Amino acid sequence: MKDWMREHQPVAYRMLENDLRKNQTSCAYLFAGPKGTRKREAAVLFAQSLVCPNTDEDGWACGECDVCERIRTGNFADIKILDGSEKMIKKEEVADLQEYCAKTALEEYGEKAYIIYSVDNMTLSSMNSILKFLEEPEQKITAILTTDNPERLLPTVVSRCKTVPFYKPSGIELEKQAMEMGLTALDAHILAENVDDTDMMKQTSEKETYQSAVTVWLEFVKHLRHGVYAGVYYLEEDAFGSTDKSKVKETFSWFLSAGCVFLKDCLENKTGISEKWDEGLAHFREGPCSAKEMMIVLLQCKDDLLVSANANLLIDRLGYELNKEA
Ligand SMILES: [Zn+2]
Repeated sequence: MKDWMREHQPVAYRMLENDLRKNQTSCAYLFAGPKGTRKREAAVLFAQSLVCPNTDEDGWACGECDVCERIRTGNFADIKILDGSEKMIKKEEVADLQEYCAKTALEEYGEKAYIIYSVDNMTLSSMNSILKFLEEPEQKITAILTTDNPERLLPTVVSRCKTVPFYKPSGIELEKQAMEMGLTALDAHILAENVDDTDMMKQTSEKETYQSAVTVWLEFVKHLRHGVYAGVYYLEEDAFGSTDKSKVKETFSWFLSAGCVFLKDCLENKTGISEKWDEGLAHFREGPCSAKEMMIVLLQCKDDLLVSANANLLIDRLGYELNKEA
């Protein structure tokens, strides 16, 4: 995680390392940035770095010792964790936290801290309570707050914290990170355009619906060489006609997303992503369709799919529209 941060979130990395090195940490940190920038893991690493007995020369935690492990799994008595990422943080949880802050440290390391993930996900009155103990800490205790939406926080909370910014990676950067996680160049390329973070990219790349959608797209452009009708027939009969009913909608949705990336590559004359993608692009150029016009049809289908329950109907509509364009 430390190496990942140094490479991919250098601003946050430098700010935190600076404090750790000088052994002058602030009372409160706000890790702010869009979803998928690994703020949660960064918060754990930073909390570990406050107490780990085996920190490196720059002050970062080893990440492997018993203390680090207990912090990671939420079993370290002096680091309390509240989590608003899935559901709203309750009033009682905040009251517990307040009580916890007033007590002396239980572990032998003396440092106390608390982490609140998605701190914006609490009521205004809870946020006011948090503000109170951010303002008047009874003892040295480090607050590490994370948020995807700093604009939803009370300005007074933000001003009490040192804001550590996390930035969304560019598309190219996302592709690179996804490939480091083991995705193929093609999956990384398609998914970087459609999913915000590498974890989701990885999960999606392992989905059968996604993988079969990419295959169907490439087969579709191959059939298109023989005319729009051949392509549409393949889609309706062979591809989606035989897809498990419960999976048609999701597969079709990925088909449209992969198609949009493909057509964009076609318009930009991009090559070299992967052999089969290049081959697909060559097939498409031999066919009767214009990339620009097909893109418009696909985007319209994507919009319609959001509000329509019946994917098969939309697949037929797509066929109709393509026939009309040709
Ligand atoms: Zn450690």
